[in-house]
Amino acid sequence: MPAWGKEQLKRYSRNILLAGVGVAGQQKLLNSKVLIVGTGGLGSPVAFYLAAAGIGTLGLVDADKVDLSNLQRQIIHSTLDLGKPKVESAAEKLQALNKDIKVVTYSRPLTKENAEEIIGGYQLVVDATDNFPTRQLINGVCFKQRKPFIYGGVLAMQGQVMTFIPGRGPCFSCIFRNEPSKNAPTTSTIGILGAVAGVIGSIQASEAVKVLLNIGVPLVGRMFTINLLEMVSDQIEVRRDVYCPVCGSSD
Ligand SMILES: [Zn+2]
Repeated sequence: MPAWGKEQLKRYSRNILLAGVGVAGQQKLLNSKVLIVGTGGLGSPVAFYLAAAGIGTLGLVDADKVDLSNLQRQIIHSTLDLGKPKVESAAEKLQALNKDIKVVTYSRPLTKENAEEIIGGYQLVVDATDNFPTRQLINGVCFKQRKPFIYGGVLAMQGQVMTFIPGRGPCFSCIFRNEPSKNAPTTSTIGILGAVAGVIGSIQASEAVKVLLNIGVPLVGRMFTINLLEMVSDQIEVRRDVYCPVCGSSD
């Protein structure tokens, strides 16, 4: 944690000015530990904005290496990073942006074997993955460890975001029970516009800051959806499912 100095006051001045933040809120952010699972299209804006906001410890999980086809949307990586582990490439950019913060990298997939230990070191998780099993895994561990997680999904010109806080509203498995069919469209079959991931990732970063500071109204119990092609957004109310295999039997 950095000592407060003129430099920190200047760096974070636009945060500190915000209602509900102030110096105390900024200190809280600097003491916060957030895990970002995935450093791709969503992970890029999430990590950039959380690092810039001064989240004191950022964990990055990703097993992939930077590929040319990533650069159209994964803006934390550059042409010079091709072939480099994504977490390394991302960590370099984040430390260049803000050396106050600590970046911890996990260049491996999140698995049943390591998820409890990795998530155990953080207070909030941002899901920036692109697959159902990992989201289910994050949900199960976060529910067990009573930690909030911010879900985001993008496809083609559409995206959705929701915040899950154990004990407050539904969990991911209340809404998404079964793995999508193998024939369901994915970003590798029908594409994704980079800016769509930018919009959804930015909302996830904003939700994370709100939850950490306990300000505003988080997207709990309502799914925010947006179609950028038609430029229409909506909010769908979602309730807890008493038969949910993850949160159903407890309160
Ligand atoms: Zn549930």
